[in-house]
Amino acid sequence: MDPIRYTLSFPEPHTHYVEVTASVPCAGQSSVELMMAVWTPGSYLVREYQRHVESVTAENPDGRDLPVDKTAKNRWRIATGGAPIVTVTYRVYGREMSVRTNWIESRFALINGAPTFLTLADRTPRPHLVTIVPAEGWTRSMTGLADGGGPHHYCAADYDTLVDSPILVGNPAVYDFTVDRVKHWLVNEGESGVFDGVRAVRDVEAIVREHLRMWGSLPYDKYMFLNVITEGGGGLEHRNSAVLMASRWATRTRKSYVSWLELVSHEFFHVWNVKRLRPVELGPFEYERETHTRSLWAVEGVTEYYGILLLHRAGLMTRDETLEALSEKIEALQTTPGRLVQSMAQASFDAWIKLYRPDENSPNTSISYYTKGAVIAFLLDAMIRRATSAAKSLDDVMREAYRQYSGQRGFTAQQLRGLVEDLIGRSLSAFWSNAIEGTGELKYAEALDFFGLRFKPETASPGERQKVWIGATTKIDEGRLVVTHVKRGTPAFNAGINVDDEIIAIDDLRVRADRFDQRLEQYSPGTKVSVLVARREQLLELDLKFGVDPARLWRLEVDPIATPTQASQLTGWLKGFSEPAG
Ligand SMILES: [Zn+2]
Repeated sequence: MDPIRYTLSFPEPHTHYVEVTASVPCAGQSSVELMMAVWTPGSYLVREYQRHVESVTAENPDGRDLPVDKTAKNRWRIATGGAPIVTVTYRVYGREMSVRTNWIESRFALINGAPTFLTLADRTPRPHLVTIVPAEGWTRSMTGLADGGGPHHYCAADYDTLVDSPILVGNPAVYDFTVDRVKHWLVNEGESGVFDGVRAVRDVEAIVREHLRMWGSLPYDKYMFLNVITEGGGGLEHRNSAVLMASRWATRTRKSYVSWLELVSHEFFHVWNVKRLRPVELGPFEYERETHTRSLWAVEGVTEYYGILLLHRAGLMTRDETLEALSEKIEALQTTPGRLVQSMAQASFDAWIKLYRPDENSPNTSISYYTKGAVIAFLLDAMIRRATSAAKSLDDVMREAYRQYSGQRGFTAQQLRGLVEDLIGRSLSAFWSNAIEGTGELKYAEALDFFGLRFKPETASPGERQKVWIGATTKIDEGRLVVTHVKRGTPAFNAGINVDDEIIAIDDLRVRADRFDQRLEQYSPGTKVSVLVARREQLLELDLKFGVDPARLWRLEVDPIATPTQASQLTGWLKGFSEPAG
């Protein structure tokens, strides 16, 4: 198949535009239709990227203009006049700093496939070749795309690969290392003399080695971590690269550094889980409409779980930090009322309209499949270890799933469940219909017992007053204390406090916005007060009874009376041994 050849140039990068020229083969047709994707795989929201496309024109090889008709929000039809090839030019505005969009400025450009490239709408498999013309002063282009023969020339075997291969152009700091004879790069855009690239690349290499130990082989011939250090956040996985967004201060404190390493570990786990082993519904992709699956919890939750666990196994996170990270997931789940409304299967299916479109009521009506999915992964892991006397684990399920279903096949939820049932030797039906398909509470007792863990008992030291809690979150808006979320069933909810209410006083004494927390420290759980709020400028007095913060009930710790067997099972889990204990 004849390729489409693109040239990307940045004549005025400070204006945030990339200029695109595409040579499109017409195969003798009188007209060709081009399309642009409306979403990016891995990020489940229709984003209408084409709104940033301008000045689409076409000409034949003689330089004669050809008519271009817009036929849909993301489609353009070109009358070829019989030309064998047409040259299409357009400009794309890029000034959205996210892992899935374009950002173009004087220092660098981050180019993603979906919001940049028009392709033939018939989607006949064909190579897509890309030539980058860096802006003046830019020296490097970094991408997971295959070498196209010469500097800044790249080759994607097909459109899916093009969309799956972000490109960073500029003067980033570039580090490389080799694992299992495969070259890896850490590309840091924006170190600013603050982000510690040398330390980061050493630890990224340790992460790669630990993931290799889990999976057994590296399924790519090169890999690139594109780390965009622009005070943004988030990450997006690709087949042989990932885009990460970080703060330049990320390497400065232990907490921020560990969370950056967690992001690296999470995105890298996706090399296997979702980029090659995927729910059957997630591919081949429809780029012009939503693609629904009920299994995103297995994609993101399991990845979130292993992102943490493998960081510990790589020696980059302490045992206590690992338990703390897991506690945070459990706490987030158990303090989100939406867990009793939306199942994991529903959360996955409706990601497009719920998770990616949150509003003030989201905590009451939905639950993140990242959060609950990670907790389910932990429970499944414990269940398998318990049933097999620690001979097998979720690691074995993931490896077996990869062996059987990776590549073009994909797995159904039933097949994934079957792999667990094969190991534990019994039906998972009750657990599955509660945890995945249903909204019942998860049970932790067996898992904690197996590892000799417990939830830390709530004990206030003598003389210390228990902290009160109202169950609403607030923000300071021009000096006013404004409610942003009210969780169902909490003291604030029961008192009738609404989102957007301004809290003015408690028991007729003014509450200063910047001292709300200190003010709450003056009260005890169970105390009844009157809260004065302003709602659309109308004053209202509401009766509220303070409660106790339930988040403090979900901190995991090693049980002081754990037996040697439990201790060895805990070590086996944390270190990644799956041999029988003892
Ligand atoms: Zn992910």
